[in-house]
Amino acid sequence: MGDVGLAVGIDVGGTKIAAGLVNGDGRVLHRVRRDSPHDREALFEAIAGTVGDLGPDAAGAPVGVGAAGFVDLDRSTVLFAPNLPWRAEPLGATLAARLDRSVVVENDANAAAWAEARFGAGVGHRDVVCVTVGTGVGGGMVLDGQLVRGGFGVAAEFGHLPVVPDGVACGCGQYGCWEQYAGGRALLRRAGDLLRAGLPEAAALSAACGGVVEQLEGSAITALAEQGDPAAVELLAELGHWLGVGLAGLAAVLDPTCFVIGGGVADAGDLLLQPARRTFARRLPAGGARRAAVLVPALLGNDAGMIGAGDLARGMGGGAR
Ligand SMILES: [Zn+2]
Repeated sequence: MGDVGLAVGIDVGGTKIAAGLVNGDGRVLHRVRRDSPHDREALFEAIAGTVGDLGPDAAGAPVGVGAAGFVDLDRSTVLFAPNLPWRAEPLGATLAARLDRSVVVENDANAAAWAEARFGAGVGHRDVVCVTVGTGVGGGMVLDGQLVRGGFGVAAEFGHLPVVPDGVACGCGQYGCWEQYAGGRALLRRAGDLLRAGLPEAAALSAACGGVVEQLEGSAITALAEQGDPAAVELLAELGHWLGVGLAGLAAVLDPTCFVIGGGVADAGDLLLQPARRTFARRLPAGGARRAAVLVPALLGNDAGMIGAGDLARGMGGGAR
C-alpha cells in the first residue's frame, strides 16, 4: 500500500539508473541502482524495473524521471539524448501506460536544480540558479519559485553561454562557450598544457598521472590542491575565475539571490569557489551599487536529480506549489 506523500524519482544517466523513494521533505527513504543498457528496449525495461525493485511502498506512487537529454515541453518526450538511445522518444507516455500511473519526465539538470532550490543549498531563496561543474557545465534555474524550462523546453544550457569571442571550439558547434573554460574538460586541458611545458612546478601533477597527460584526472588535481600544491591550486583558481565570469553574466540577466554550485569539480569547495567569488564580485555589472547573489556549494550531491524528479512528479507542475 503506497503512502500518498511518497514519489519515485529516477535519474537516468548514460551509465547508471538510480531510483529512489522520495518523501515530501525531499528525503530518500530507499534507493536502488541498475546499469543503463545501450539497447532502447532493454533501457526501457531497466527503468520500469527499478520501480518494482523499490518494493511495495512504491506501488502507485507517481514517477518522475530525470533524463540526461533534451525534454520536450510536454514533459514526456525525450527529443534527443547524446548518451542514450533516445530520439523523439515518448518515454513518459510509454512508462505511464506500463506502470499505470502518472509519469513526468524532466531534464536531469533541471530536476537537480529543483531539488537544490526546494530542499538543498537554495532553501530560503525564491530565485536560485544552479550551475553544475562536471566534465562540462550545466544547470537549471528556479525563478520566482518556478522551474524555468524556456519556450522550447531547453533553457538553462549555461555551458554554452559564449564568454570568449572566437575562443576554444565546443562540441555544440560554437566557439568560446563557458564550459570550455570553466568545466572539468577545461581543467584537464590546462593541466595538460602545464605538463607538456615540462615546468618544474608541475612535478607533483606529473607524478599524479605517471607522466601520462591523458591519465590525469580532475579528482587528482583537487587532491593535490588540497595538499597545497601551488600548480594545482592555480589550475582550480583559473577555473574558478572563469566560473565567476560566467556567473556575473548570468546575474546580469537573471538576477538570482543565490547561485548553487554543484558537480564533481565543485568537490574542490573553496579552492574553486573563493576565486569564483572574487571574479564574480569584480565582474558583476554595477557591482558596487547593487546587492550580489551568494555563491554556495550544492548540498544534495548525486541524489539531487532523483529527489527533484520525484518531487516534480508529486507536484506535477513545478509551479503548482
Ligand atoms: Zn558550446
